[in-house]
Amino acid sequence: MPETTPNPRYARQLKLPFWDQQAQDRLANSHAMIIGCGALGCPSADLLARAGVGKLTLIDRDLVETSNLHRQTLFSDSDAKAQLPKAEAARRRINQVNPEVQIEAVVADFGVFDAQRIIQSGKFGQPDVLIDGTDNFETRFLINDLSVMDNIPYVYGGAIGTKGMAAVFIPGHTPCLRCLFSSPPPAGSQPTCETAGVFAPVSAIIASYQASEALKLLLGARERVMGSMLEFDLWEGNRRRIELDNLRDPDCKCCAHRDFEFLDRDDEETLSICGRSAIQINPHSKSPIAMSKLADLLNEQGQFETTSFMIKGRFDANNIELTVFRDGRAIFDGVDDPTVARAIYARYIGC
Ligand SMILES: [Zn+2]
Repeated sequence: MPETTPNPRYARQLKLPFWDQQAQDRLANSHAMIIGCGALGCPSADLLARAGVGKLTLIDRDLVETSNLHRQTLFSDSDAKAQLPKAEAARRRINQVNPEVQIEAVVADFGVFDAQRIIQSGKFGQPDVLIDGTDNFETRFLINDLSVMDNIPYVYGGAIGTKGMAAVFIPGHTPCLRCLFSSPPPAGSQPTCETAGVFAPVSAIIASYQASEALKLLLGARERVMGSMLEFDLWEGNRRRIELDNLRDPDCKCCAHRDFEFLDRDDEETLSICGRSAIQINPHSKSPIAMSKLADLLNEQGQFETTSFMIKGRFDANNIELTVFRDGRAIFDGVDDPTVARAIYARYIGC
């Protein structure tokens, strides 16, 4: 039988002992959804597109900013100057890299309502894998619910400061995220990129792990997927593996009882306040926030006053007035778009 000439684009990976044309065809028919096109989503989307994953859904709510460029490898200085949405800038860049890949760019907040809509009525149907490029735990718990409910593997990743973590949660085969962490950490208790910074090689390594594990899944090599959570500090040179085998919680709300708490919420945490141009964010995890740390951080961005109940003040850059209460509730005055309020909340207060 005459052999078809392999696509030269994939010639070097077709030399790998476990990769043949059938694997390449399988990849061309696969669909990866990348939630968050930042420090993790950029390198993983780039690797998957170059490998020939046929369909990519790229989701992000933010615009490209100059401060993203040291680690978010799909974006250029001109994207930041043009204030392009990240999902769209990523789509344009990947289209230049590999025009054979079909891309849906979704500029949206992956919240309760949009998450289900995107999964159910996306251009390419249900994805074969969910890749975590988010910067907050509320969204990760939502992804975990979707993963278990719809039986889609979830490739988890996180990078902050000089530390990174990665793991793969496969419904029916491994614990889920909630088996390991029963609820998101309290608002304000975790560092964010703005408070702790990011050592760019950490996010590149975590994203490479995520791309590697996603490719194994898409190639049908589930037995090769790492069965542990990997944690390391690239600056210190520390590395730790936590075996996931015995960590399945028989009483897990999500994967044992199928209680999809983060998907079933109808108490939308973001509310427009009637009668004035303001948005309230009321986080689900109610615990006292680190007021003095937050006040220090906010005072680098504008004039803020702290009382025993709240921090209140105005950002210099956009004149938005912010009031943050001890339990994490926040009101943004001068904002009409909940996405803008949620983005500022995630950046300074975290969740
Ligand atoms: Zn579980």
